Amino acid sequence: MAKDTSTQTLRICHLYPDILNLYGDRGNTITLVQRCLWRGIDAELTTLGLGEDADFSDFDLFFLGGGQDFDQFTLLDDLGIGKPNSKASRLVEAVADDAVILAICGGYQLLGDYYIGRDGVRSDFIGAVPFYTDSAPERMIGNMVFTCDDFDTTVVGFENHSGKTHLPPDNPEVSPLGKVEVGFGNNGEDGYEGLRYHNTFCTYSHGPILPKNPAFADGLLQLALSRRYPGATLAPLDDRLEDLAHDSVLKRLRG
Ligand code: GLN
Repeated sequence: MAKDTSTQTLRICHLYPDILNLYGDRGNTITLVQRCLWRGIDAELTTLGLGEDADFSDFDLFFLGGGQDFDQFTLLDDLGIGKPNSKASRLVEAVADDAVILAICGGYQLLGDYYIGRDGVRSDFIGAVPFYTDSAPERMIGNMVFTCDDFDTTVVGFENHSGKTHLPPDNPEVSPLGKVEVGFGNNGEDGYEGLRYHNTFCTYSHGPILPKNPAFADGLLQLALSRRYPGATLAPLDDRLEDLAHDSVLKRLRG
């Protein structure tokens, strides 16, 4: 008997959609919502801009998009980094509580411990995930392909960052999200892209990443669904169009 999804609701929080939204990153929340609705799962999307707040414990999934360096720094006051009961401290709690989080590029970098700018100045960031980013003189720009074992898929996307992210070498809880096949990835040096920590997934891949990578989108939704409704599983969708888009880009990028 098909599961009654009419009683299932997933609550998604899009943080700073007005500031962190490069290359149409908001297409990721549109994808997450639509892939719930197609399954009869109610999806509630809450957007929180500068000065707006909510009870983070209500949310199953958080999304942060990409942004310019300047944009990232305009958010630091609003995040209240290092302050009790701030957005930053509640994001740290949400990560530790296994909420599902997808963070792209600038949003990715903000979740780390700190950022070292080209001027050598170190700025504390949210500290929700143990890693740091420093800034390279040259930007890492171009199409991207990486293999993602967590969701058993090859991800296609696009990157544009000067930040080079470095994962802790001795923390088994932090793992690369994937192995770079095309592009730079985290830092253009170690051959890895993104990270996973608890249910937090970070990547430099814009695109937006989720519409053309349905396995990635459903991997996030499945984690959020089973955290809210233990034992619940996502019904399959007809992804022929999404797979066509994915495979045509993959074929082109593989030459
Ligand atoms: N400003 C950051 C960097 O250049 C992130 C850029 C982005 O989000 N595309 O590394």
